Amino acid sequence: MTERGFETLQIHAGAQPDPATGARQTPIYQTTGYVFRDVEHAAALFDLKEVGFIYSRLTNPTVAVLQERIATLEGGTGAVCCSSGHAAQIMALFPLMQPGCNVVVSSRLYGGTITQFSQTIKRFGWTARFVDFDDTDAIAAAIDDSTRAVFCESIANPEGHLFDIPAIAKVTSKAGLPLIVDNTTATPYLCKPIEMGATLVVHSTTKYMTGNGTVTGGCIVDSGTFDWSASAKFPSLSEPEPAYHGLKFHETFGHMAYVFHGIAVGLRDLGMTMNPQAAHYTLLGLETLSLRMERHVANATRVAEWLENHPAVESVSYAGLASSPQHDLQQRLYPKGASALFCFALKDGYDACVRAVEKLELISHVANLGDSRSLIIHSASTTHRQLDEKQQVAAGAGPNVLRLSIGIETVEDIIADLEQAIS
Ligand SMILES: *Cc1c(COP(=O)(O)O)cnc(C)c1O
Repeated sequence: MTERGFETLQIHAGAQPDPATGARQTPIYQTTGYVFRDVEHAAALFDLKEVGFIYSRLTNPTVAVLQERIATLEGGTGAVCCSSGHAAQIMALFPLMQPGCNVVVSSRLYGGTITQFSQTIKRFGWTARFVDFDDTDAIAAAIDDSTRAVFCESIANPEGHLFDIPAIAKVTSKAGLPLIVDNTTATPYLCKPIEMGATLVVHSTTKYMTGNGTVTGGCIVDSGTFDWSASAKFPSLSEPEPAYHGLKFHETFGHMAYVFHGIAVGLRDLGMTMNPQAAHYTLLGLETLSLRMERHVANATRVAEWLENHPAVESVSYAGLASSPQHDLQQRLYPKGASALFCFALKDGYDACVRAVEKLELISHVANLGDSRSLIIHSASTTHRQLDEKQQVAAGAGPNVLRLSIGIETVEDIIADLEQAIS
């Protein structure tokens, strides 16, 4: 299948007619357990000597199709799905980190991720160092002997700020560290971080990948290219694992070591499992990913251009605008578009934002993005509420800023709704 086009792969990768029934669409394998052929088969599965289905906390055939589909679309060697995007982030870091270690992260991130990284991971003895990822020297300067990973979003929530992934990957590979890219807002249709040098890609499949606001989910894709044994920094992958009779994941599974660890240790012990119903909805959504993203980009471009010329609007952050300082980067690295998530600032400040949100009729006030419906949120009073004003501004979520996630409705209707709300 490797030579086939994106539009083919988003429908077919990982799936085949059901061997038991011939069902053409991937069935929802709504089961927790799987019957072992015999005791020897069961023992081989538990020892990781044979790959197969044991229990749905670890593996499930519907989820397995989704894992292979996302891995294929991202150009990775394999993937692990989990219960949400936030679960994917913890699961991605888990094999890499130990108490006392740090991860160097972009200051422009989804608000919930800033909270997860600045507060919650401290309970595991991990810390995050927040740096401006437009400044590659600052990334290099923040890395020390205790750094185990570097993390950023390709198209950053909430402003739709684009990052130069190849430049960032150069810094991390020089430091001998894995680069983790959250590709939620871009999707593999607009950006392929692995081709640009990323080691791991994480997703909140809750957003554009599913595309209709039905289920939460997450995914971690491994490029399969990182040498986990090149240093002593990643003992979970390079050293004997006591729970599997001293098996060494990297030595035994090679380019699949990280993915197998994610399932056999990560899902086994953290239990952040994606359920087969969620995988089904996401598989359906992925079938139209390219079509939806094209329309999302076209609509977002029209709306951003309209907003930019509106007298009540102070600024628009969309990187797809010809006037954007990021326009050259967009043309070079994100030629199919800058997704459909961006912010605009109103001249009249916080109160005008609150008034506009209340007047909108078609566009819903929702803490989600990447839906077929257009959504808006006033980040400063919601998703970025836990941050102080300095952090809010650094994250692109100042008090007079509204975040839009432009849907795939008739674009004139989206503009008309904004017009009546902000004029
Ligand atoms: C929503 C989001 C997350 C968190 O994902 P959930 O599925 O809500 O847990 C992480 N990163 C980005 C960029 C997101 O938009």
